[in-house]
Amino acid sequence: MKTMSESWDTYEAFRDMVRRIACDKIEPLAVDLDKTGGPPDAQFEIFRENELLGLGLPEEYGGGGGDLMAQVIAVEEMARVCSASALTMTAAWGTLDPLVRFGSAELKQAIIPPVAAGELRTAWCITEPQGGTDMAGMTTRAVEQDDCWVLNGTKRFITNGSWAHWYLVVARLDEDFAIFMVNADDPGICFGPPEDKMGLRGSPTSDVIFDDCRIPLDRIVGDRSGGLARMGLSLTHSRPVIAGQALGVAQGALDQAASYVKERKSQGKLLARYQLIQEKIGDMAIRVESARALLYRAVDFAMRGDPQARSLASMAKAACSDAAMSVAVDAVQLHGGYGYLRGVPVERMMRDAKITQIYEGTNEIQRLIIAKALLSEGGQA
Ligand SMILES: Cc1cc2nc3c(=O)[nH]c(=O)nc-3n(C[C@H](O)[C@H](O)[C@H](O)COP(=O)(O)OP(=O)(O)OC[C@H]3O[C@@H](n4cnc5c(N)ncnc54)[C@H](O)[C@@H]3O)c2cc1C
Repeated sequence: MKTMSESWDTYEAFRDMVRRIACDKIEPLAVDLDKTGGPPDAQFEIFRENELLGLGLPEEYGGGGGDLMAQVIAVEEMARVCSASALTMTAAWGTLDPLVRFGSAELKQAIIPPVAAGELRTAWCITEPQGGTDMAGMTTRAVEQDDCWVLNGTKRFITNGSWAHWYLVVARLDEDFAIFMVNADDPGICFGPPEDKMGLRGSPTSDVIFDDCRIPLDRIVGDRSGGLARMGLSLTHSRPVIAGQALGVAQGALDQAASYVKERKSQGKLLARYQLIQEKIGDMAIRVESARALLYRAVDFAMRGDPQARSLASMAKAACSDAAMSVAVDAVQLHGGYGYLRGVPVERMMRDAKITQIYEGTNEIQRLIIAKALLSEGGQA
């Protein structure tokens, strides 16, 4: 058995490898991706060539079998230079987590290998127009009819909407909820126009609409009921990954700010020599490293299957995304007027940071999850 430090050396070697791809191949495309608004075809191809699209998928289905720590390291390093690209990479494995855990062997065999190979793309569809937070209030419905499931409803803000080939969809079934896999070629699926977003502009987002969408009965993922609880398990896994994306943005903004103040002069002195500037940089670094420590602890708990993992995942998601937002705002401030210009990385990072406080469960909801665990009978956060 490997010792912790031996495993850590392996993770760090993996980090170096991902960082090289991020810096050499993804960073040079980041400004243009943000300007043109994607889709990130070139980035997807780079991830495919470097076998990163199967990273979090099981080896028996052609994936890389990377554990949660490896996934978090990969997304952190990508988001450090381009958050939209990082999301494109993680969507490949993150959106299939419920299928991996609960799908039939036949469905997994049909879907996972081409996704791991980068031949097909995926999305997951939970949010609806009337509210993403209120998952139990969703109205998209599936009914069993003539040897098919027939789906009706609209999903909103779907990452990779219209760009993906497979959609994992949560819908009402009978008196409960179930999960289904819908293909972009199935009859009755269509897509809204691309959303014009503040940030993550290189990542496609749109409505996914089901209008009497008919799919075979064997496309159900798991049982006819318990879909929300199954999604809850996947969210405990995906929240640390989104926290990793936020941490990457925070680290990227700190890197940019630190190098800027070492070059920019005011009143004949480098900005880095002023104590007020040093205080800000020191404070930004504390926020980044505190968030990282909490995230890695959450990952450790999740990998050991500890019951506290859910609460820690929520803490990490809130802490990393709050750090990303505040560090990116400070990084813009340290760039003065130049930080306000399109094409300057910290301006994009500030816009990209915001979404990490909103999706994968808003930070308000993360705090409710943490408090509920803490305040329950005998509860610990
Ligand atoms: C770029 C982008 C990509 C996305 N990708 C996906 C995707 O791939 N798949 C997917 O399913 N969804 C996706 N989403 C949707 C995202 O997860 C939701 O926007 C998010 O969950 C919030 O839902 P909402 O927008 O409906 O806000 P609402 O649920 O309407 O919330 C509005 C505000 O009220 C607060 N609030 C709501 N209820 C409570 C409460 N009980 N107590 C306290 N505060 C509350 C919220 O915290 C928030 O501040 C994406 C969104 C964006 C913008």
